[in-house]
Amino acid sequence: MDQFYSEEQRMVRETARRLSDDVVAPAAAAIDREDTFPRAVYETLAEQGLFGVALPEEAGGVGLDAMAACIVMEEIARGSGAVGNAFAIPVEAALFLNHHGSAQHKALIPGILEGRTIPATSVTEPDFGSDVAAMRTTAIRDGDHYVIKGTKAWVTFGQVADVIMVFAKTDPEAGHRGISCILVETDRPGVHRGKSEELLGMHGLAECMVSFDEVRVPVTNLIGTEGGAFKMAMENFNFSRLMMSSMALGMAQAAMEDAVAYAHDRKQFGKPIFEHQAVQFMIADMAKDIAAARLLIHNAAKLYDAGHPIALEAAQAKLFTTDMAQVHISNALQIHGGNGYSREFRIERLFRDVRLSQIYEGTNQIQRMIIARQVQKAYA
Ligand SMILES: Cc1cc2nc3c(=O)[nH]c(=O)nc-3n(C[C@H](O)[C@H](O)[C@H](O)COP(=O)(O)OP(=O)(O)OC[C@H]3O[C@@H](n4cnc5c(N)ncnc54)[C@H](O)[C@@H]3O)c2cc1C
Repeated sequence: MDQFYSEEQRMVRETARRLSDDVVAPAAAAIDREDTFPRAVYETLAEQGLFGVALPEEAGGVGLDAMAACIVMEEIARGSGAVGNAFAIPVEAALFLNHHGSAQHKALIPGILEGRTIPATSVTEPDFGSDVAAMRTTAIRDGDHYVIKGTKAWVTFGQVADVIMVFAKTDPEAGHRGISCILVETDRPGVHRGKSEELLGMHGLAECMVSFDEVRVPVTNLIGTEGGAFKMAMENFNFSRLMMSSMALGMAQAAMEDAVAYAHDRKQFGKPIFEHQAVQFMIADMAKDIAAARLLIHNAAKLYDAGHPIALEAAQAKLFTTDMAQVHISNALQIHGGNGYSREFRIERLFRDVRLSQIYEGTNQIQRMIIARQVQKAYA
């Protein structure tokens, strides 16, 4: 793919690859084992300016694009899926605030880029996930304040966040048109964080429930327009789904590299297992699907950077990449035989970590619904 990248994209990939090999990958097993927020690694990514990779220079960013963000994500997730996941949060938050926020909200961006201000985004609730419009958390106007009431689930970085972008109903009768996005500083009275969730994989991301017990925030904390947040969230998915696709891609690439190395080291029936055709074919299928996924993601990113709508392309990239990553990481584990089932080998962690990618940023069933609707529009 190198020949398709600009000079800047090649340079940022080199930076991300070096950081992934030298800092991220060596820390990955401990992050998984200890399941605590990897603050030191997070701050190192910030110091390298990577959180601002897709943000314009005038907003304090590096001034590259979505394509560059995807390239960086792939490299970081090659070292650790969880750190890749952590990388996505400030990148997306800074872009969201820059796009939709007021001058007051944009003042948060430097802190986010430097890793000093940790953001989180909270849409999902215990009873409503895919059905975003049915959320129950309310933000009711009281003079020059909103009073926020409700409970949010699965808040990535919930335990460590300084600010949470909370999606809540400012008009509970208006369906998806009644949803607004409000910035909530986590030190406000009435913000309660639950205990850290114990998860299958992606450890260290400080996920928890957060409840809002009549939390008062000034109306100036409204991001964008009142009632406009559903549309903002859906638009945001275009970019965030490319990030999640790139994360799964990086993990699949890591699994393939491990499978190839293991298949050369391990001998059975008098030869390296790579020489058994059944093993070779699993690796050939991995290489084919990884290459196809990379093309889908980069095609969508190029369209996005050129200002085209990419609901279809982002859904296709997310669905294809996360499904293929799950299948091929499982096959790479198979190539490791019994050792693949042991924590001694990285493939065991990749197998657990990648599973999430089919569930969040819209489940893969939701991606199929989006694709089907677009196909219907085009051909029915
Ligand atoms: C580790 C982790 C981190 C997360 N981080 C965040 C975060 O930071 N912020 C945030 O807001 N959310 C976050 N989420 C929540 C995530 O986005 C949701 O879990 C996801 O959107 C699915 O919602 P749900 O879990 O309620 O599943 P449900 O919506 O209840 O879905 C359950 C099943 O039903 C299927 N389904 C639902 N509706 C349909 C339909 N119409 N047609 C066909 N199938 C359907 C789904 O595909 C799924 O298989 C996180 C989740 C996890 C696990």
